[in-house]
Amino acid sequence: MTVEKTDPVEVFGAGLKGRGLRGTRDLSAGEVVFAEASFAAVVLDSLSLQVCHSCFRRQVNPHRCAQCKFAHYCDRTCQRAAWDEHRKECSAIRNIGKAPNENVRLVARILWRIQKHTGLVSDSQLTTLDMLEDHLSRMTPEDLKELKVDVKTFYTYWPKKSKAVGEDYVSHLFGVISCNGFTLSDQRGLQSVGIGLFPNLCLVNHDCWPNCTVILNHGDQSALDASFHSSRRIELRALEPISAGQELTVSYVDFLSVSTDRQRLLQQQYYFDCKCEHCVNGTKDELMTAVKPTEDGKQPSAEVVKQLTDFSLQALVKIEAARAQGNFHEVIRICRECLEKQDPVFADTNVHVLRVLSTASEVLSFLQQFQEAAGYAQRMVDGYMKLYHPNNAQLGMAIMRAGVTHWHAGLIEAAHGLICRAYGILMITHGPHHPISKDLEAMRRQTEMELRMFKQNEHVYHSMREAALTSKPMSVAGEQVQIKA
Ligand SMILES: [Zn+2]
Ligand SMILES: [Zn+2]
Ligand SMILES: [Zn+2]
Repeated sequence: MTVEKTDPVEVFGAGLKGRGLRGTRDLSAGEVVFAEASFAAVVLDSLSLQVCHSCFRRQVNPHRCAQCKFAHYCDRTCQRAAWDEHRKECSAIRNIGKAPNENVRLVARILWRIQKHTGLVSDSQLTTLDMLEDHLSRMTPEDLKELKVDVKTFYTYWPKKSKAVGEDYVSHLFGVISCNGFTLSDQRGLQSVGIGLFPNLCLVNHDCWPNCTVILNHGDQSALDASFHSSRRIELRALEPISAGQELTVSYVDFLSVSTDRQRLLQQQYYFDCKCEHCVNGTKDELMTAVKPTEDGKQPSAEVVKQLTDFSLQALVKIEAARAQGNFHEVIRICRECLEKQDPVFADTNVHVLRVLSTASEVLSFLQQFQEAAGYAQRMVDGYMKLYHPNNAQLGMAIMRAGVTHWHAGLIEAAHGLICRAYGILMITHGPHHPISKDLEAMRRQTEMELRMFKQNEHVYHSMREAALTSKPMSVAGEQVQIKA
């Protein structure tokens, strides 16, 4: 095992956490620690007809593989680029007449690749797939049962003419992808579209308050030469200055839950007890559960808090159901009702309030009710900023959406401030070459120009804005930033 000389990282024994990765020199905020192409990746079952199986972008009218009729691509260029990894899969799908689920497809792709390259793909690989954790021994009986079903499907799918593989190894790989599989998002970074395996990234341990973040880079699909196209490369980027020898960490879960909830989720999905500093000290738990003093200056009773918490949780379930049915007016109705009940008791950093604010601002923007949406978005951003790491990617994206909402609401000063703030964060988490950063840069220039005009002459500003709105709505990665429904 050799390490690419330019990558400032090394594997080390991280105590109870097993192996970990640490920097070999000081790193600065926003620096790319390493970049890695996926060992293998597949599009999720639910999106197999809408997402390109080569570059993982969403496409309105993708080109279909004439042979298996399962794989879809942006165009022939993407199809050609993917043929090497699709060839065996294509014939296996034709043989059984139907594509198996994403886990089975991924494990088969991993095995075809191992058999072709004997497991070690490049000089920059720090580990082998054999050495990755599978956590089979810690899985619950139910999880194991599901895994066994996948293993069985795998053997009906795996072609007789491919080299035989033992059941233990196949189970190991299913275990590896279930706790180490990385979710790939679309070009806007908003929707999960695939799952992939990045062996070096698997060595980076979790911390709820991490010093690094992972971002997927879709490459340059406009290049005529397919070799410039996406190899589904991830970048590990430093979120803050990191000294040489310090462990590099990422977060496997969203930070916006109290420590016991995060620990439970990590135990269920990744089979470990989080002992990170923020969990051990319950850092920010108090803010996330914060309540307002009652009129006589006392704390609301435990009973009142419990009732409102239950009410909030139930409301969220109803909101999700209404949203899934596309009943957005009902979503808004429940959100308003919930916020009204929460307002006298919960403080604005309380996660129950923040979840409702987030949905309310997003759905109201979608319904083009930008004034009310902007108010909720502002409260959400204020709360997020007290809770999240200052360079958290989700925080950056939320501020960006809030900025766009304010712009639509005609609140140009606030919009420009939010866009600039988001840009500052995304330059660290996504870097200057990411499509979202480029969109933000354009928005920043636009709002800056509008703000200057607004300060000079409000009347001219408003008429210009009307013109801008009718000709070219503000967009992110070529699409209007409104919907995540
Ligand atoms: Zn494509
Ligand atoms: Zn095919
Ligand atoms: Zn933790």
